[in-house]
Amino acid sequence: MHTQSILHRTTLLAALFLTAAIYPLTSTATPIEASRSHKPQLPGVYRFQVGEVQVSALSDGTLPLNLHPLLRGISTGQIDALLQKGFVRNPVETSINAYVIDTGSHLVLVDTGAGELFGNVAGKLPQSLAAAGYRPEQISDILITHIHTDHSGGLTRDGQMLFPNATIHVGQADVDFFLDPANLSRGLEPKHLEEARKTIGPYLEAGKVKTFTAKTTLLPGITAIPTPGHTPGHSFYRVESQGQSLDFWGDILHVGLIQFARPEVTISFDVNQDNARAQRLRQFETSADEMRLSAVAHLPFPGIGHIRREAGKYEWVPAQYRNRD
Ligand SMILES: [Zn+2]
Repeated sequence: MHTQSILHRTTLLAALFLTAAIYPLTSTATPIEASRSHKPQLPGVYRFQVGEVQVSALSDGTLPLNLHPLLRGISTGQIDALLQKGFVRNPVETSINAYVIDTGSHLVLVDTGAGELFGNVAGKLPQSLAAAGYRPEQISDILITHIHTDHSGGLTRDGQMLFPNATIHVGQADVDFFLDPANLSRGLEPKHLEEARKTIGPYLEAGKVKTFTAKTTLLPGITAIPTPGHTPGHSFYRVESQGQSLDFWGDILHVGLIQFARPEVTISFDVNQDNARAQRLRQFETSADEMRLSAVAHLPFPGIGHIRREAGKYEWVPAQYRNRD
């Protein structure tokens, strides 16, 4: 009898719980009404540790990329077939990721997103930075992987420096290429010259740009590694702490679903297609061999993981998500 009553009570409670789960007793909204109030995406922040250093991945937003006219060395049919394997269709929603490195003594930003240069698409870095608990004036250093709209565009707002206390680190070859009108006859697009003047220009005038031409230690535990190809001064940055490390990849690739399987495929944004392809092949091989943790600008947010080679093919393995203190 006693057992029966417990069983009965348990069944009743389970039934009540199920009912409450399906028809929340406190809500007056029907499922249809609830779906009408569209909620925007929350600012994207994801934190993780590299030894003693805290890294925050920040989303600058996403934009749809029509790959058909952009990719080189692959047919539209082959593009669509590879996308289908990833359950994705063209145009592909593409992340723009930036990162804050808190070393304890320096607050370092890796890339700045697109700022105002893509109109009302992307440009969300300031909101993500605020959501992460940082103010632009706290940033001491900015590592620019390369001078392209979606990486250096966020340096200024309304023509003013958004990060007034920051030193900008960037490959000398990118400053030489993107800010010299003589290069308009050597592959530099007028739009990129104008944008470089708008975004890097004010920092150059203020004497806040520091360049490098070879592998260089910029700050304790932070190294610049030139990886030219996509742009002449394109660079990786490596942060190291307590035997752990993380590489920031910039634009060594643009579309994971295509270029891990077919690393020879290039994109029209590559200033030099052959050099970009050769550099990608080299870095994929090295990173896979050395099992390097990497943070990638255009892989789905937060873009952190490892590249793996299996049976001669590359695959991306996203890092495990962690949400506990
Ligand atoms: Zn990019």
